[in-house]
Amino acid sequence: MRIAILSRDANLYSTRRLQEAGEARGHQVDIIDTLHCYMDITSSNPTVRYMGEVLPQYDAVIPRIGSSITFYGTAVVRQFEMMGTFCVNESVAISRSRDKLRSLQLLSRKGIGLPRTGFASRPDKIQDLIKNVGGAPLVIKLLEGTQGIGVVLAETNKAAESVIEAFMGLKANILVQEFIEEAGGADIRCLVVGDKVVAAMKRQAAEGEFRSNLHRGGSAQLVRLTKEERATAVNAAKAMGLNLCGVDILQSNNGPVVMEVNSSPGLEGIEMATNKDVADLVFQFIEKHAKPNANKTRGKG
Ligand code: ADP
Ligand code: MG
Repeated sequence: MRIAILSRDANLYSTRRLQEAGEARGHQVDIIDTLHCYMDITSSNPTVRYMGEVLPQYDAVIPRIGSSITFYGTAVVRQFEMMGTFCVNESVAISRSRDKLRSLQLLSRKGIGLPRTGFASRPDKIQDLIKNVGGAPLVIKLLEGTQGIGVVLAETNKAAESVIEAFMGLKANILVQEFIEEAGGADIRCLVVGDKVVAAMKRQAAEGEFRSNLHRGGSAQLVRLTKEERATAVNAAKAMGLNLCGVDILQSNNGPVVMEVNSSPGLEGIEMATNKDVADLVFQFIEKHAKPNANKTRGKG
């Protein structure tokens, strides 16, 4: 098959691994810089242009859209969908995953376990909002944050109130969430391909830190999932409409709760921690599912 990886950087571990794995399975794999794609969106025969030429009709596209280019990146993916190209993750699903609030609402609709979470845009009822999610300790998050930046733990109601007021004063969109203390600074990253969890790792926050992000000094190790955790991850991916994603779960006293779903999950940490060839599994999925016009939304989202 002829397959494109949409990625800004051909030297990233995940991009390189995907290209190697695809080539090892006999495919032609091109790495296309998302921001260098341009297109005539009004043409009755949609195409994508790149480096002065029209890109070929690919059998599949693997979007690796970084959170800093979601807007343009999803437009490029949508153009491929309009051409009938099979996109491993569709543009609408990627957009959903980039908005923490929208994601949690979608997951909640499907009855997936979540930490109690509230949202408000005005500061006049903060105390009621805090009470509503169970009171301190609370986690306050910027809606568009990544890598643990913009996630704050407030240990008292007073501290929560001040932090919420400060963020609102800066016109930042935030959500207020029950702190799952019993998770002990650990979370579980489940890598989902299609309708299966193909690899899972437990990430433990560094000493004195509650955020387990590897970028914040967390460490990762292999973990065996319970049936319930596995089902939660698969259902979350399905609710989001993502075929390739990382589902982050906290182990709460009430069972697994989903924190977030990442539509461009890094492969390095999880392949190292689990010794699994995740990239190869992505191509096995593509070989089975990539057919022209097989995408659900086909650019309509
Ligand atoms: P980001 O998108 O920046 O990674 P997350 O929502 O994943 O933001 O939060 C970062 C980290 O903070 C998580 O990996 C987890 O370790 C910790 N964390 C986030 N929310 C909670 C919570 N409600 N209870 C306990 N720990 C949390
Ligand atoms: Mg996270």
